[in-house]
Amino acid sequence: MKYFSLNGHSAPASFREAAILGQAPDKGLYFPENIPTFKGGFIESLQKISVEEIAYEVIRPYVGDSIASSALQDIAAQTVNFPIPLVQVHERMHSLELYHGPTLAFKDVGARFMSRCLGYFTKDLNKEITVLVATSGDTGGAVANGFLGVEGVRVVILYPSGRVSKVQEQQLTALGQNVVALEVDGTFDDCQRMVKAAFADTALTQKLQLSSANSINIARWLPQQFYFLLAARQWSSAVAPVVCVPSGNFGNLAAGVLAWKSGMPVKRFIAACNVNDVVPAYLRTGKYVPVKAQATISNAMDVGDPSNWIRIEHLFEHDAEVIQRMLKGATITDETTKRTMERVYHEHTYTLDPHGAVAWSALENYLESSDGSEGYILETAHPVKFADIVEEILQREIALPSTLESLMSAAKKSIPTAATEQALFQTLHEL
Ligand SMILES: *Cc1c(COP(=O)(O)O)cnc(C)c1O
Repeated sequence: MKYFSLNGHSAPASFREAAILGQAPDKGLYFPENIPTFKGGFIESLQKISVEEIAYEVIRPYVGDSIASSALQDIAAQTVNFPIPLVQVHERMHSLELYHGPTLAFKDVGARFMSRCLGYFTKDLNKEITVLVATSGDTGGAVANGFLGVEGVRVVILYPSGRVSKVQEQQLTALGQNVVALEVDGTFDDCQRMVKAAFADTALTQKLQLSSANSINIARWLPQQFYFLLAARQWSSAVAPVVCVPSGNFGNLAAGVLAWKSGMPVKRFIAACNVNDVVPAYLRTGKYVPVKAQATISNAMDVGDPSNWIRIEHLFEHDAEVIQRMLKGATITDETTKRTMERVYHEHTYTLDPHGAVAWSALENYLESSDGSEGYILETAHPVKFADIVEEILQREIALPSTLESLMSAAKKSIPTAATEQALFQTLHEL
């Protein structure tokens, strides 16, 4: 499989090249040259095949000969080695819980797969890879955890001091080993600007093999198909599901649409957004207008110009009719999100996090006007990751999963860093 740049000015790349580069040299997103279809009987036989095999079968055509098959089998298996249950909450609504991985968010799946692929590729590079990533919270934790202990890879994470939750900070700073956390005296935008400057500095990029681990990397995007198929494996109704995805940068939804293109049954997708609703507004009006992101309680979805939307348009072959038929948008305010968390807890004793609650509200509205449909939401993070908000709304304490207890008491280790490019460059040169 080759990948071409959606900007159209870079040469096609192999899986290996595209995963190491992250972004194409022309700044475009990589996209597979053809979309494989699942082989006959694959969907019907999902229940008879193991989770590991499903992951391997789905990813194999995308990786081609970039990774030997036995190694790819191991990588696929390690990517899905935690439960991903589809929980029935209500007669017509299920929740696909993607938060049972090590950092309690769906980003674990993509990060675990990508980190192991890069670890495999460094074996024949005679240079260590330095993964440089700016985070507002969740991405950094998933990436750090994914790369922890992977030989030949060092991870440098920049996070805004005082602006991530306690759980998130421990996930960035208490790991040690090959993970270095820079605590930046500034905002997330400062962190991103510093990282961009590092990638633009030839002295640095020549000295260190710098790699970005952001969500546009195909090695993070493609494995996100796994859990849509694991949902299909657990789906027992005769009608195809309405799939509701709480969306920010739209990588998750793009992976779902990719799996649908390959033959997975879906009645319709819902792109559920908070007030940062560039895509739902586009679906209503036909105009795509990027905005400056506004802060909300579902902050992982505070994105004003979602990078992966272009992949979704490409998957739908820019056919407005198919887009209108297959994809509905929904805009959910913070107020509705809060009321939804409260109501779902009282009616179903089910605890949603703010991102899942955005999706829940959107799916519920949709099903009200669609007789006989059934669906599921992607519950993208564990409610404990947003304990402040969830506890305040539900008026009760959210227990920390036992897997996190030791992490919470581990020593925090970070390098205080001024919010300047020079400060970052100096630290990188000294590593
Ligand atoms: C990143 C994230 C999202 C948004 O996912 P995209 O793939 O960027 O659309 C939603 N919920 C949570 C909890 C996240 O961390």
